[in-house]
Amino acid sequence: MKFLIFGPPGSGKGTYSSEIEDKIDVEHIATGDMFREAVKKDTELGNKVEEYLDKGELVPDELVNEVVREKLKEIGMEGFILDGYPRTVEQAKFLEELVDIDALILLDVTDDIIIERLSSRRICKECGEVFNKLFNPPEEEGICDECGGELYQRKDDKPEVIKDRIETYEERSEPVISYFEDKIPFVVNKCREANAPIDGMVNNIIEGLEEKGLV
Ligand SMILES: [Zn+2]
Repeated sequence: MKFLIFGPPGSGKGTYSSEIEDKIDVEHIATGDMFREAVKKDTELGNKVEEYLDKGELVPDELVNEVVREKLKEIGMEGFILDGYPRTVEQAKFLEELVDIDALILLDVTDDIIIERLSSRRICKECGEVFNKLFNPPEEEGICDECGGELYQRKDDKPEVIKDRIETYEERSEPVISYFEDKIPFVVNKCREANAPIDGMVNNIIEGLEEKGLV
């Protein structure tokens, strides 16, 4: 089972993927984790990736592709759910030559839900603990449960910035999603509730995969 997962920021992509990993036999592979792993290994490839990350620059296509190739080789090219890759049509073409993908899981979340979710996030100034007024509110408003530190809202999580983030995501992902449209089955998971229970969403996705005979 080889899946891709796409969804806007705040769609729960990472959370759902980790849950799916526990329920069916796939490994959740997130681009960020893959980069960190490569850097840690201290290989030539890892060092090159590190240069870009240190500068805060986007890792170029070729390098990302190599990291993905190494990772997929490591897990025997099967049983994965790829999160955050491919980001471009070039990367998609590379992946296609590397391995046959079975399906694309698409998280369909409306803009107002994303805005509601992300703008409800608060982070501790002291220890970095993340809270969300919708899912896991702190016991006392504005105060961290862990260390008593003050909670704040990241600049990225302000509604006007979230709108830009959604737009950027759409611009980048649309060509990639369309690229796969006629090639592999899509499992679309609709979410119309800001605080939709994670379990329910994950079950919907797995049912969608079952219906298409994929798991
Ligand atoms: Zn704290």
